[in-house]
Parts: sequence; structure tokens; C-alpha cells
Amino acid sequence: MTEHPTVALVAHDAKKASLVEFAKTHAKRLSGFRIVATGTTGARVKEACPELDVVPVKSGPLGGDQQIGAMIAEGKLTALIFFADPLTTMPHDVDVKALMRLALVYDLPMALNSATAEYVIDALAESAPGTRRRADMAAGHQ
Ligand code: PGA
Repeated sequence: MTEHPTVALVAHDAKKASLVEFAKTHAKRLSGFRIVATGTTGARVKEACPELDVVPVKSGPLGGDQQIGAMIAEGKLTALIFFADPLTTMPHDVDVKALMRLALVYDLPMALNSATAEYVIDALAESAPGTRRRADMAAGHQ
């Protein structure tokens, strides 16, 4: 079971500025979480908010989406904040779908836009709802 809320941040290129703004606006709240992020997204967030604990994985199209998906399957994430671009065709569309699919499979809170992400981090700041259940699912106890 994850001991502290661990939140994954991913943003497609057209949404990176929005995610950076989100991180700056909510930096105090996010500072209470461990953060993992795809490479470019993580670098942008860390640059804007150096005080945050951001652990980067590879860039999304180079395997980072799949690394985050694996963390979901292993029960290591509390939530996924994924600012997805609905207007651009992605060369790594299969990875994008796979990441969202695993969040659905494991019933992980997944925010795909800023409005939902605010609700998610508000809830996480108070508690980490469902953490044990997702860890149990990852362990095969559904
Ligand atoms: P990036 O990856 O943060 O490395 O750009 C995001 C994505 O999945 O496109």
C-alpha cells in the first residue's frame, strides 16, 4: 500500500502550460504529495515549482506513459492527473489509451482536466480514499 499519496502528472504538449499553471496555483497542496511525472511534463513543473518533490520517468512517447501505467498496476499511485489534448493526433495514442485503460481497470482517481484535478487534490489533501482497495486490487484481491 502506498504510504503517502503519490500523484502522477502527465500533460500533452498543448496542455503543458495549463498543467504548469495548475501546479503553481496548487503548489502548497501538491507539496504534501509525492509526484511522479512524464519527462517533459515533470521538467516543466519542477522548473516552475522547484519546491515540489517530482520524480521523473521517461518522456511519455518514449515509454513514460507505460512506466506510469505499470505503477498503477503495482498499486503505487493514488491518483493520475492527465491533461490530455483532445484536438491533436498522438503518435503514441496506444500508450495514451493504455494508461487511461489501466486507471479504469484499477479504479484509480483520474483527472483529465483542471476542473476535475482540483476536486481530486482537494480530496487527497484530506485523506487518500480508496488507497487500500486499489492496492488490494493490484495484489489480485478483488
Ligand atoms: P511528456 O509526455 O511529459 O514527456 O511530454 C507526455 C505524453 O505522454 O505525451
